[in-house]
Amino acid sequence: MQTLKRGPCSSAHKLWPKVEAGKLASAFDREAPSTASPYKDILHKLETKVFPGVMSWQHPLFMTYYPSSSSVPAVLSELVVARLGSVGLQWASNPIATELEVVIMDWVAKFLGLGQAFHHSSGLGGGLIQNTAGDAMLNVMLSARVHAHRQMQPALAWEDAFHQDSSSFVVYMSDQVHFSALKATRLAGMRARQLPADRENGNFALQPSVLRRAMDEDLAQGLKPIALILTYGSTNTCGVDDPAAFRKFADELWIHVDAAYAGAAWALDEFKPVAQVVSEVATSVNVNGSKWFLCGFDSAFLWTRDRNLQLGAFSASASYLADVSESQESIYNPEFKDWSVPLGRRFRALRVWMVFEYFGSSGLRSYLQKTIDQANWLRDCIQKHPAYEQPVLTQFGLVCMRCVTDAATKELCNYLQQHGFGVMLSQLGGRPMLRVALGGSSTEQEHVEELWQHMLDFACHQGVP
Ligand code: PLP
Repeated sequence: MQTLKRGPCSSAHKLWPKVEAGKLASAFDREAPSTASPYKDILHKLETKVFPGVMSWQHPLFMTYYPSSSSVPAVLSELVVARLGSVGLQWASNPIATELEVVIMDWVAKFLGLGQAFHHSSGLGGGLIQNTAGDAMLNVMLSARVHAHRQMQPALAWEDAFHQDSSSFVVYMSDQVHFSALKATRLAGMRARQLPADRENGNFALQPSVLRRAMDEDLAQGLKPIALILTYGSTNTCGVDDPAAFRKFADELWIHVDAAYAGAAWALDEFKPVAQVVSEVATSVNVNGSKWFLCGFDSAFLWTRDRNLQLGAFSASASYLADVSESQESIYNPEFKDWSVPLGRRFRALRVWMVFEYFGSSGLRSYLQKTIDQANWLRDCIQKHPAYEQPVLTQFGLVCMRCVTDAATKELCNYLQQHGFGVMLSQLGGRPMLRVALGGSSTEQEHVEELWQHMLDFACHQGVP
């Protein structure tokens, strides 16, 4: 087999550190050093003590979880951000951080085809960068809870909305939802009701009739349906809840679309109609810049169609913050501290800006299409081979597979890991399943072909050539 170019890290250390828990930590002293060390010594320790424990997420053969695709402009911009060391407490504390965040959140919304309702330029909607999709989900659930109380009791004083009992509030989601949706709902003091996704067609989508039935049951018991979390690209199987199917619920429920990984695909013409529907039905939507977007960890884009929904939950101030007079108010200086929990915010917009400057939207689209083409190529190979089956549809960059028996699927995973591939087993319906998640910035077709070649070799060993 042809020798492949490996990423810069592969010569220094393996993609997949095979280490015993606790061994890495034991290489470090129990106490922090009392004297200074020269960089030469620190770099030596980096090589010998730190790198051996690193999972190389940017390696071309890293195909597990979902990618956290980074890029050269993302890394370079981080250096600038760290050197500037500015903290965006409010617009006045680092004006360019807020203003660039407004600009790039509208850029990303337009790039994905999210409509005007979610743009800052609408004056009502808009977006901000959160650490992760989980943070975005918590932001949204806390906002939804307070909003629901204020809607149900318009005479309620603002402060009192926070003290109301929310134990009858129900948030619906499928059983394929990411667990951060459950956490966020619980932390907001509401009930999470998970509904069975349709397993028939390999997509694992929530059905509107199932939701309606559940809502009717809950209403009959005196509970109050509040919100619906739709997943566009579920974590285990990349299942897609069809936002169009839930259009009729938009007046009744806060609909949040968790598109942490797969929302990036909306940038492609083929998926633009989905973004259009999301723009019409969703109250809020999240797409991660850190998964399939070349922006690196951490960055999760969160948009809401009405900023007052977040302001209602998060507005707070203090006398030590600068007072921006009304004459200075523009769409470019929202106080993001009032849109989410933290006061201090990193200048993450610079990273997104530099990624767009460097690749252009056409470069980003080519990268997304490349991932989909690679996944479809692997899917086609698997479909033609008797040793392999696909328990779920291949969507975007995720290819799921099983081998002839469950034991063979486990062996396949070990075999691929031993040959340097970053793949991991997951479970579906109580049975093992191998997930190959493509989308790494340095993963090329030749790497996917190398994976397939190893799968062919493995099938031969199993006696199914
Ligand atoms: N939602 C989905 C669909 C995901 O796939 C994931 C992680 O893979 C998350 C949420 C949580 O992501 P984060 O680590 O950004 O909180």
